[in-house]
Amino acid sequence: MVKAIVGANWGDEGKGKITDLCAETSDITVRFQGGANAGHTIINEYGRFALHQLPSGIFHENITNIIGNGCALNVASLMDEIASVKKAGVRFKLLISDRAQIVLPHHVRLDEYEEERLGKRAFGSTKSGIAPFFSDKYSKMGLQVWELYNDELLMEKLEMMYEKVNVTLEHLYKKPPIDHTEVFKTLKGYAEAIRPYKADTGSFLRKAVKEGKNILLEGQLGTLKDTDHGIYPYVTSSSTLAGYAAVGAGIPPYAIKDVLCITKAYSSAVGEGPFVSEIPDPDEAEELRKRGGDKGEYGATTGRPRRVGWFDTVATRYGVQAQGATEVCLTCLDVLSYLDEIPVCVGYEYDGETYGDFLTTDKLYKSTPILKRLPGWSCSIKGIRDYDSLPKEARAYVEFIENEIGVKISMVSNGPSREDIIYR
Ligand code: GDP
Repeated sequence: MVKAIVGANWGDEGKGKITDLCAETSDITVRFQGGANAGHTIINEYGRFALHQLPSGIFHENITNIIGNGCALNVASLMDEIASVKKAGVRFKLLISDRAQIVLPHHVRLDEYEEERLGKRAFGSTKSGIAPFFSDKYSKMGLQVWELYNDELLMEKLEMMYEKVNVTLEHLYKKPPIDHTEVFKTLKGYAEAIRPYKADTGSFLRKAVKEGKNILLEGQLGTLKDTDHGIYPYVTSSSTLAGYAAVGAGIPPYAIKDVLCITKAYSSAVGEGPFVSEIPDPDEAEELRKRGGDKGEYGATTGRPRRVGWFDTVATRYGVQAQGATEVCLTCLDVLSYLDEIPVCVGYEYDGETYGDFLTTDKLYKSTPILKRLPGWSCSIKGIRDYDSLPKEARAYVEFIENEIGVKISMVSNGPSREDIIYR
């Protein structure tokens, strides 16, 4: 059975924890998209980890973990991650697609310089090189893993590549050029570092699908950061949708039987862009921010404070529909226990009209949230394992959201640890 775990919103919905949980019954976990620019937080018996590129099944010795062809492979940062899990005593199986593309030194630099150039109009990039990486990939100027092992071709390609890159560096950004022979040396180091893991993961996965193995496809970010369906241009540069999982892993689209979409009991977002249900009052926002997640709502990769808001039924209904969700997990319900009343965004007001459908970016910027206040439960719900034992207000909150988004909420997460989960 192939299951995709993806985000319904802006990312940081708690996918890491749920993937870690679902990984227990999987044979294979796969990262199919994204790169080192975002992270999952996983808390387990080995400690607390911010995983950026390693699949969440990494903590289970019997699971094969795959970094698929759809990923932006940052070798240096992957090696740091591997070192950190090894240091914690984790034994793991990892395969890296020989068709995955490599993040190159100029991608990171161009990302930084472009944000600098844009100034006030910057996108709030994490500066991990993702946008320049995908530009190069789709203009056929990128490097797939297999290309690292042919010295002659590699040197030739780098020479051609940096001829162009250096024009941009020197003339557009007024920065020093890059010596392609230095990049060659770095890449030969990368080639050796990933040699033990390099594999034809597409054929490995297609065979596993035929054999009926349990495969988890693990998404990064969420619908609203998808290049096509998100809040363009405040999006990431690759698709965050379950539909892309087939491409980014190399399996048939019809193999994906279950799309488990993760959404949080409130909203959070990083970077620029419209965020209709954002809490305008800084103190009220800070209250939620510091109580959110397991250590407050601060980026797993960047440490940046996340923007926070109330649950948005309009954005999330759109989010689960674009993902093709077959079930939903609602996380961080415990975080809202401090509130007497919980505001929920149930519609957008734009230009005097009320909307229940998600809008394009220009209109989102001018929309205001229509808030409904639901009664809070005002007590701790941590440690509850059985849905019926939740306070009736908490159940009403879950059921209200389920009704609004139109997809069954099959799991409720009420704490950061693996055990903090309620199945319905
Ligand atoms: P991801 O990128 O979707 O995996 O999300 P992150 O890992 O960046 O953010 C989710 C944060 O919420 C992490 O700090 C998790 O440990 C934490 N978390 C996940 N589920 C719950 C939950 O049900 N309750 C609380 N309090 N924290 C949770």
